[in-house]
Amino acid sequence: MGLFTSRKTVFVDSDILVIGGGFGGCGAAYESRYWGRDLKVVVVEKANIERSGAVAQGLYAINCYMGMQWDENQPEDHVRYARNDLMGLVREDLGYDIARHVDSSVHMFEEWGLPIMLDKETGRYQREGKWQIMIHGESYKPIIAEAARKAATEVYNRIMVTHLLMDKTRPNRVAGAVGFNVRDGNFYVFRSKAVIVAAGGASHIFKPHSVGEGMGRTWYAPWSSASAYALPIQVGAKMTQMENRIVLTRFKDGYGPVGAYFLHLKTTTENAYGENYEPTWYDSIKELVGDYVDHQPVPTCLRNHAFLQEVTAGRGPIRMVTKEAFKDPHKETVGWENFLGMTIGQAVVWASQNIDPKETNPELVMSEPYVMGSHATCSGAWASGPEDYAPSDYQWGYNRMMTVEGLFGAGDTIGGTAHKFSSGSFTEGRIAGKSAVRYVKDLGSDQPQLNETECEDLKAVVYQPMENYEVGRNEIVAGTVSPSYILPIHGLQRLEKIMDEYVGGTSTNYLTNEPMLTRGMELLSMLKEDLDHIGADSLHQLQRAWELQHRVWTSESVTRHTMFREETRWPGYYYRADHPKLDDTDWHCFTLSRYDPESGEWAMEKAPVHHIID
Ligand SMILES: Cc1cc2nc3c(=O)[nH]c(=O)nc-3n(C[C@H](O)[C@H](O)[C@H](O)COP(=O)(O)OP(=O)(O)OC[C@H]3O[C@@H](n4cnc5c(N)ncnc54)[C@H](O)[C@@H]3O)c2cc1C
Repeated sequence: MGLFTSRKTVFVDSDILVIGGGFGGCGAAYESRYWGRDLKVVVVEKANIERSGAVAQGLYAINCYMGMQWDENQPEDHVRYARNDLMGLVREDLGYDIARHVDSSVHMFEEWGLPIMLDKETGRYQREGKWQIMIHGESYKPIIAEAARKAATEVYNRIMVTHLLMDKTRPNRVAGAVGFNVRDGNFYVFRSKAVIVAAGGASHIFKPHSVGEGMGRTWYAPWSSASAYALPIQVGAKMTQMENRIVLTRFKDGYGPVGAYFLHLKTTTENAYGENYEPTWYDSIKELVGDYVDHQPVPTCLRNHAFLQEVTAGRGPIRMVTKEAFKDPHKETVGWENFLGMTIGQAVVWASQNIDPKETNPELVMSEPYVMGSHATCSGAWASGPEDYAPSDYQWGYNRMMTVEGLFGAGDTIGGTAHKFSSGSFTEGRIAGKSAVRYVKDLGSDQPQLNETECEDLKAVVYQPMENYEVGRNEIVAGTVSPSYILPIHGLQRLEKIMDEYVGGTSTNYLTNEPMLTRGMELLSMLKEDLDHIGADSLHQLQRAWELQHRVWTSESVTRHTMFREETRWPGYYYRADHPKLDDTDWHCFTLSRYDPESGEWAMEKAPVHHIID
């Protein structure tokens, strides 16, 4: 018995277990209670749902709202928009399903107290863009969390889920999850009939621009640590579009958002010589991707591509032209409030660098890549679609159920559905919650059984990094260097370097090829071997150790998918230098992967993209 396995084990039974109390998780808890009045709904969250998740700091706009009550947009329009932005490849059934329900979620947010800005002339919600409405959103997350708290039977904060549990009587059926409390160190075994994973996306897979002391300054939250992907992957769920990492144009160093600037302030970009550079690249982009360059709005990745090409041509930095807009007091207020509502750090960066956007056009930068499923990107789990709408090969069970029975997902977890954002992720949580209730009710007495030996074994595995540290620390040769363990930060930096240099990060200008990916895979395998020797000197470091494990699993999936797709579908997100063009003949399809937990092998396949909407 290890030094740390004597820790207390707490058993929690539930009907529905929601992992992650962000936007998807809160939606799932809310809707599970609505349809399952008598069910036990448990939320488990590694932080505190009051201020957890990608947008814990607040938002200034809800980016997915149709406005059907005023006939502003229809769900079909949103599907066309997302499909266009993702260069043709989205799950139209899932996207449509979110779009047809998302307005009702936003109306509930307003009822619960979220201040939504109104257009004084029309009385409608103030639009920032075709899909975005403006909010006073500093308290967006606490408002949503309150609804989830009231809906859930129990919320367990500060518990990091490390593994899913499978049913001992029936293969491929989920039975719960395990994790540990990051404050008191207790081990938790959650037994549940249905599990909804809503654990957000992944930052710190690729090396960020800011390293050393500044490494926490990334666009995507540093605590979004890929559990949404690693948990399902390890139990054999199929994943899709994991190669579709996202790269964003943001204000330099603070990663302040640009949406309100482009859409509401109507600012434009220019190169270092004050020129509009995008038309310069039109012909060469057309060579690469054909007619996709003529689509409106121009897909996000193609605009990134023009930016990158211009900088490579030596005409950077690219700047946002703010001087004109900031002369208008209304626009100046919106420009600053936009940061104060969600990215205060950008205002601080400008202050510290003597940048007054009235006097200086601020620099933009292309971010490092992130893995997520709810923004202008769609990595995630392969999910069954809505019964009334999905083509038959997109349906094998309950809506939003993965290829593992009883395992559902929402938000960044689910692949193929870009542009759902906060409101769409919450809505997808609601869809998954409703579906999970139906699944639980249909189960009747056929309930999943836990394998107690497996739980005991996992307990030893979970605390092993603390044991490694306790035993190995006496051998420290200097500072933090030990011959018998690596610290989580060492492993993280090694991972980021591998992904950055071989899988298309910033240091290769987002470029990779088969030999680079092959070498990346070799280095990842060596890193995986060393993960058995991570040392954690505290519960905090134990959490870092498990976050690293989840990031490494996800990185492997990203690398395998990137290798499989032999084309450059999204120039500006990444480039397969050995297949530099978009290839609709062979690759107008989804990429699917499955890790087999029995054999330890991965299998890749293609799945058709069904265009349901014209
Ligand atoms: C920088 C940024 C800006 C954005 N701006 C906008 C915007 O302006 N408007 C808009 O509408 N949307 C915006 N979005 C999108 C929106 O934030 C996401 O779509 C939404 O948060 C996704 O919901 P989710 O539930 O998948 O993930 P999250 O909301 O991130 O929630 C995931 C939750 O899971 C928890 N968790 C993770 N791992 C574990 C684990 N192992 N165990 C237990 N708990 C775990 C996390 O702590 C977190 O609470 C933005 C996103 C980012 C990153």
